[in-house]
Amino acid sequence: MSRIASVLLPMPLPEAFDYAEPEGMVLQLGDQVAAPLGPRLLRGVVVALREAAGGNRPLKPLEAILEEPRLPPGTVEFVQWAARYSVDWPGQPLAIALRGARAQKPRPVRVVELTGATPARPTPARAKVLQAATAQAVSPPDLARAAGVGAGVVKGLIEEGVLAVRLVDAVARFDPPDPARPGAALNPSQAAAAQALKAMLAEGSFNVALLDGVTGSGKTEVYLEAAAQVLASDPTAQVLILLPEIALTQAVIARVTARFGAEPGEWHSDVAPPARRRVWEAVAGGRCRIVVGARSALFLPFSNLKLIVVDEEHDASFKQEEGFIYHARDLAVARGKIEAAGVILASATPSLESLRNAEQGRYRWLKLSSRHGAAQLPDIQIIDLRQAPPDTGRWLSPALVKAMGETFARGEQTLLFLNRRGYAPLVLCKACGERMTAPDTDSWLVEHRYSGRLVCHLTGFSMPKPKACPHCGAHDSLVSIGPGVERVEEEAKGLFPQARVAVFSSDTIFDAREARRMIETMAEGQIDILVATQAAAKGHNFPNLTLVGVVDADLGLRGGDLRAAERTYQLLAQATGRAGRRDKAGRALLQTWAPEHAVMQALAAQDRDAFVEAEMAERELAGLPPFGRLAAVVVSGVDPVQLEGFVQAMAQAAPNAAGVAVYGPADAPLALIRGRRRKRFLVRADRTVDLSAYMATWRARVKPPAAVRVAIDIDPYSFL
Ligand code: ADP
Repeated sequence: MSRIASVLLPMPLPEAFDYAEPEGMVLQLGDQVAAPLGPRLLRGVVVALREAAGGNRPLKPLEAILEEPRLPPGTVEFVQWAARYSVDWPGQPLAIALRGARAQKPRPVRVVELTGATPARPTPARAKVLQAATAQAVSPPDLARAAGVGAGVVKGLIEEGVLAVRLVDAVARFDPPDPARPGAALNPSQAAAAQALKAMLAEGSFNVALLDGVTGSGKTEVYLEAAAQVLASDPTAQVLILLPEIALTQAVIARVTARFGAEPGEWHSDVAPPARRRVWEAVAGGRCRIVVGARSALFLPFSNLKLIVVDEEHDASFKQEEGFIYHARDLAVARGKIEAAGVILASATPSLESLRNAEQGRYRWLKLSSRHGAAQLPDIQIIDLRQAPPDTGRWLSPALVKAMGETFARGEQTLLFLNRRGYAPLVLCKACGERMTAPDTDSWLVEHRYSGRLVCHLTGFSMPKPKACPHCGAHDSLVSIGPGVERVEEEAKGLFPQARVAVFSSDTIFDAREARRMIETMAEGQIDILVATQAAAKGHNFPNLTLVGVVDADLGLRGGDLRAAERTYQLLAQATGRAGRRDKAGRALLQTWAPEHAVMQALAAQDRDAFVEAEMAERELAGLPPFGRLAAVVVSGVDPVQLEGFVQAMAQAAPNAAGVAVYGPADAPLALIRGRRRKRFLVRADRTVDLSAYMATWRARVKPPAAVRVAIDIDPYSFL
């Protein structure tokens, strides 16, 4: 009796397809195979195998098993779990899991090896080469180097047939990490936290810990200590460290390398395809035992994953909002469960979701309440802009400017934090009042002075800044409203002409290498004033940074996001936490128009617990996360009549279920993007409801016209 293989293809298809296992082929779960689909042969993965029942219509046979690493069972299960949770086609997460396998292969390398022939003319140099060549196959230049002879000697032996050249696949060498190398001498509270983590990990089963420690308390040291135990206890165990920003990976890679004497695998969108493929294969083969990466590293084919660390677990960047929509923190916990691995969530300002889980005892809660060594938390002061605002057209208040002057005079560094890229967030015509927006899109164009362009941060559209208003034709009438980092940089340069001022935002820093250079330059003290968006405000250690100025503390509070207050608190606590990380005292000044707001009060009093308690109470009252579940549906289409017809039909089709309320359809706040109109539903459910199952049932009841797109977002973070 032959077998049937369910093969999942890495594309948006509703399910896996069945194929026959041909005679002579012995498939295993997770095999990468060549599957015929219509006239094409596609790469797929075997996700299930069963005996054929007989009497069914004949299935197409699979073409071949690819000579590629097999996906481990945990990865296959995780991909399917993630699809079900996110209410998306399973081929979507599979495509992420196969990203490394589909990347371009590294070029094969030339190696030489002994053929067994003896040289016609033995010389001492040749003898050295023969001796060196017995160890392992290496490239001709490496062999010459190992033997301590010139390249010509090796060449001569190749020509004589004593050595033969062979092309081999470049297999990435990942030196094994050495967990026995000593780490930092931990202080008593760090040691206690590390001990608790080690005890948890020694259980060898799925467990989650929340490592809740103020900025600079040594969370990284503590989780590296836990990782050391995992690596030491099992020679094949693997550790994944997830970070929210590519800019943060470099510093952690350096610390992992220093701690374990071997470089970890690096995984994020900036890693070049051949390097990506090397990491992917080495992870599948178990040769790469530590990975440091961004959220998609969670989909790597780990063969024996024993620990997942989610650093800065509260960070909204862990939420992937496009394509396959998922939250890497939540999926990390799910993957930990599938792999029976430990999960450590680390943060100075944990998400309310994780705090709630810790309070309820689902997660172990480990706290580090003070900075390591002499470092003190910064003194945080509120600047009430209503009392002492900056001059017109300026953004730095007299109090902040004074503090910057004092800091500069002492030879110390200032970080000005403003979470807004570009020069000005809005350009309008003072003649007719027209606001510049991207074509067929509801969002404002942001002025960038470096490039001289107006840019839509939503769609990427850009155009040179026009000389005349495109609406009324008036000349020189366009004015820049509000500040972005470039404008604050301009102001800082004007105020302190001798100071070295730099900008750090995703427009000025393009890749991981540049980010590393900028961070090193800052850490070495070669920048006096750094104007930065959140890209630089998180995680870094700048020893000489003693002043953080938050230019617009109220920025994140605007808008209808349920997490606005929480996020603002987290971001500002992170940003202000950059000050005074060594022996020098630090201070932070918050410019705000709403000093009485709970977020500002909690920050100034450094009273996180009071803030969390108040915020939790509000969420509980409204049944919002973490006390209830949410899902969003964004439906978009070009034709407004067709779109309206479909969303009305969709509203009719919403299943009735206890504990679930469907709101909408309503126009999305961004009602038009790239010519597509957008409507939203919001679904609120009690915690006991399987919201993914509810949404899947709903989706199955409607069939959108080809031109209408439906995107389901479980636990949305964006409400636009
Ligand atoms: P966190 O991750 O909590 O922000 P880090 O682990 O980055 O904290 O530690 C902050 C700084 O203090 C780093 O420069 C780190 O090397 C140093 N540090 C923390 N703990 C120790 C320790 N036990 N011994 C020496 N240095 C430490």
